[in-house]
Amino acid sequence: MSKGNKGKIDNLGRVVIPKTIRDALGIKHNDEISMTVDNAKLIITKGYKTCSICDTKDVTTQVSDKLLCDSCISEIKGL
Ligand SMILES: [Zn+2]
Repeated sequence: MSKGNKGKIDNLGRVVIPKTIRDALGIKHNDEISMTVDNAKLIITKGYKTCSICDTKDVTTQVSDKLLCDSCISEIKGL
């Protein structure tokens, strides 16, 4: 695992993924990525991931090996 890279979020919420990490993941200009939050950690994955329940691309959370969107999480909480 790569570590020791630090960055700051700018006023538009952007962050630069260091070239060493992009190279390690094989991420190039205009590649699609997915971002999920797992246990207070941001996980960036190459390619799009979809919600395990509804297939939307707005995945926000990973539970075990399942990716979930906010809408499905709200529905589950309401059960
Ligand atoms: Zn969903």
